[in-house]
Amino acid sequence: MKYSRLRGTQDIVPPQIDTWRAVESVFARTFDRFGYQWIRTPIIESTDLFVRAVGEQSDIVTKEMYTFSDRGGRSITLRPENTAPVIRAYLENGLHRRGGVQRLCYTGPMFRYDRPQAGRYRQFYQVGAEAIGSDHPAIDVEMIQLVVDAFVGLGFTAPHVRVNSVGTELSRAPYRERLLAAMETNADAIAPDSLRRYRLNPLRIFDAKDVDNSLKSELPVISDYLVGRDAEHFNAVCSLLRDAGVHFVHDERLVRGLDYYTNTVFEMYSGAPGGGGAQSALCGGGRYDSLVEECGGAPTAAIGFSAGLERIIAALPDARATAQIIDGAVEYCVLCVGDGAAAQSLRTAAQLRALGNTTCDLSGRSRKKQLAAAHKSGARFAVVVDAQSDTLEVHDFSRNEQFDVSADELPGSLMSRRETGDAPA
Ligand code: AMP
Repeated sequence: MKYSRLRGTQDIVPPQIDTWRAVESVFARTFDRFGYQWIRTPIIESTDLFVRAVGEQSDIVTKEMYTFSDRGGRSITLRPENTAPVIRAYLENGLHRRGGVQRLCYTGPMFRYDRPQAGRYRQFYQVGAEAIGSDHPAIDVEMIQLVVDAFVGLGFTAPHVRVNSVGTELSRAPYRERLLAAMETNADAIAPDSLRRYRLNPLRIFDAKDVDNSLKSELPVISDYLVGRDAEHFNAVCSLLRDAGVHFVHDERLVRGLDYYTNTVFEMYSGAPGGGGAQSALCGGGRYDSLVEECGGAPTAAIGFSAGLERIIAALPDARATAQIIDGAVEYCVLCVGDGAAAQSLRTAAQLRALGNTTCDLSGRSRKKQLAAAHKSGARFAVVVDAQSDTLEVHDFSRNEQFDVSADELPGSLMSRRETGDAPA
């Protein structure tokens, strides 16, 4: 092979692609049921957008972005996430003038220059949603319900949500001081490089892989420092979640890697808490009540989530069953046999497409080989169009039967066989 794909990227080929389409369609149906509207933004954006929104000190901005100068000397970045682009598009297209809550959803590739490993790619796909324009705790709950619904639709029997609040500056400023003090007390146990980063963004220490869990468990948690509206918001979210019957745990050490989050943050896991299931989050989200303003809009509260398709697909309880949601299987194969059969083969295939998925074997190989391939493909019927014959020869593989019909009779005879089922009486 002369060329191969880049590290950390994947080709998604048949038949696995059916699972992807099925997962995307379950999310799409769920978005529709919750009244979300689709949005598509460019894959490239100004680098500034992400530096500003995701945070100068975040891992994404400091070491994971695909950034380059275009021919005009502008700094361009392949989007590492889609919340900032959606907010930019929301403002740039005047969606904020529509009033009420704008519910937007998307799917598409994201890019992060990270060390490739299981479940971590350099190009990966996310589906996600943003609800922009309300700070009501019920929107947080609605969004979590949407995520749970989608996961149940994918066959996860007991998905659970971990919820926390990272507060706003109101609670975070005094908390940060306490956390920094506790970190300094334990400075010996933290690598100097990491310590430098956590001094700039102390909450990130809970996400750190190079810091011991026992040390993390000794650090103060933000839940104990939530005050005023931050405390009220989180209490209301928890109470509404209980009322809605959503299975959740309050994870006091849950933080998220993007700096724009305020108040509610959540992650979704497959399986019961503490039980089996995926150890890494299948999906994450939260509130970002300052981001719209930071991107140049009026103060506007918002919340969103994004889910990584690769990880969801790897964790699916029954990928085969999920793939069957997609009606992609071919039912009819038209076999084009001999010179001069092409026009009638194309006509016959066009006729059959009104009944179901149809392919036409235009390989020019022998009738025997075409028939064997049609049988192997899983199609129910093969229709042989032979230049030497006035009639069509039909093979009903499910009944192991063969018969001749005229072109006019073909659709009717196939329809009646379909209606009477697979197996002979
Ligand atoms: P984040 O945007 O970092 O909050 O991530 C949201 C979701 O995207 C995660 O829960 C993962 O499912 C997925 N994700 C993030 N980074 C990667 C990656 N490098 N490869 C595959 N999936 C990822």
